[in-house]
Amino acid sequence: MAYKALYRTYRPNDFESMVGQKHIITTLKNAIATKKIAHAYIFSGPRGTGKTTTAKILAKAVNCLNPDHQPCNECENCIAINQNSHPDIIEIDAASNNGVDEVRELIEKVKYAPIKGKYKVYIIDEVHMMTPGAFNALLKTLEEPPAHVIFILATTDIHKVIPTVLSRCQRFDFTKISFEDIKEKVEEIMEKENITAEDGVSSLISELADGGMRDALSILDQVVSYAKDHITMQHIYDIYGMMSTAEMVHYLSLIALGKTNEVLEMIEQYIEKGIDVKRLTYDLMVCLKDAIVFQFTSDAQVLERLNKEQASEILKYYSTNQALFIVDILNETMGYYRQTSNYRLFFELASLKAIDKMIQKDQKVEPQVLNSQPLKEETKKPVVEEKAVHPIKIEQEESQPLEIKQEYKPTSPSLRIQYSMDEYINIVAHGDKKFKNDLIQKWDGIRAYIDNEKTRYVAQLIADAKIGAASKEFIVLVYNYKILSSKAQEKENLILIRRFIKEIFDYDLEVYVVEHSMFVDITKTYMQLIQANKKPELKELPHLDTTSNETIKVEEDFDGNATIEMGKSIFGDVLNIKEK
Ligand SMILES: [Zn+2]
Repeated sequence: MAYKALYRTYRPNDFESMVGQKHIITTLKNAIATKKIAHAYIFSGPRGTGKTTTAKILAKAVNCLNPDHQPCNECENCIAINQNSHPDIIEIDAASNNGVDEVRELIEKVKYAPIKGKYKVYIIDEVHMMTPGAFNALLKTLEEPPAHVIFILATTDIHKVIPTVLSRCQRFDFTKISFEDIKEKVEEIMEKENITAEDGVSSLISELADGGMRDALSILDQVVSYAKDHITMQHIYDIYGMMSTAEMVHYLSLIALGKTNEVLEMIEQYIEKGIDVKRLTYDLMVCLKDAIVFQFTSDAQVLERLNKEQASEILKYYSTNQALFIVDILNETMGYYRQTSNYRLFFELASLKAIDKMIQKDQKVEPQVLNSQPLKEETKKPVVEEKAVHPIKIEQEESQPLEIKQEYKPTSPSLRIQYSMDEYINIVAHGDKKFKNDLIQKWDGIRAYIDNEKTRYVAQLIADAKIGAASKEFIVLVYNYKILSSKAQEKENLILIRRFIKEIFDYDLEVYVVEHSMFVDITKTYMQLIQANKKPELKELPHLDTTSNETIKVEEDFDGNATIEMGKSIFGDVLNIKEK
């Protein structure tokens, strides 16, 4: 028996077996049940999302001899339609059949009554490919369609369909099928076909399919014929010119270590293999995003691409800040791809830009060195050295082990502490430049604590910040990204940071956190006041009440930001919590 492609074998035969498009299926089934069938439909949406499959099922349903019109797939009409031999179902591919003559011929036949079924159904695929002349001919038919005719037009580009045609059709927009739905179907078919595969194969296929069920099954077909028996991830990487996740992690490590030659060689090798550069750019962003997510959650379950070891490997080389910066570079590069066909050039430039960022002296990451030698010789403090070599255990004053927050709890957003502009100016005015510069000298030592799982969370959080101002009483941490400043502003994180700094540097500092753009405003305003001889009078610094155990009701708004409902009542007038 000749091999039948999987997507043909498993093409849905009735509404129930359709994957996705639930809203459309429900509407069509209701229309059939209530006999309110339109004379013209237009199905729009990406390729492989079920437009022509739905059209065929609808054609069967309206002609099915079985009274409940499911369709039955058993009656004479259903069987003939399934075999593509029904005389009343006319399928036209406008992409290959777009002449005015063909459409005229079609119109000629429209007036004749159906031969076997109740309705003549015209399915015109890629209808936007028809010439304007053909469109107009179709339009005339649509103006007054005979009662026994149903037109089902399908298009992947609805904007190219003239409005006068659109206005005469009932429109259904097909959406991409969800990753989960595709994956479930792919796995179901693999089981039925006795296809075995390595873990992750069905996910990768579903991802490559990008919302198209037909594409998913075509990919599976291709991979099956390439792999013969057991499918591995490598088979798919080979066929689709992809870099494996392990290789991407390696690539990112080469970038972090500034190995320019190796990076360019690797690009060369993969270009020769015919890699999809655009896809690689996107995949690298996913890897970095995964690493950032893992940084905050320590939960490998929520990662898209990386496993726990791979995420940890990337975090050895990248701070959250650096990872976000590289994501920015890659994202910008994706934009350039739209204007050029020379993807390689822009990808190489992106890689070089990333290397340049990573080897900037103040940011340099040398995990091996940090592992054994936590601090540079000149800034080494005995207490720090000892603690970096032996994983530290941060303790509260009451000698209770400090619980380091590792879990991500999106359902219970924490209270974020922010102050007014005036208060920030007052804080900055308290600054001690010499103290700040001394602290900056020691700051890199924090990186040594990132390698330790117990201190990774807090060390990473601090390492991503720059010191905006400081004195023996306080420190202002400045973050380049709002996502990071918001995280650090959470009350429990502020407490954690304070204890960590005390433990490492032996300074008990009140911690204030601001985002970079806000800090620029603060310093600008402060400088203007000084220049105008209006230096603000120093007031008492605001203090975070760390003893309050009262439950603070915090609700999430649609942006996921915490909206503070109660503030002053709990913290008194000392804190001025800004409402968003
Ligand atoms: Zn039937």
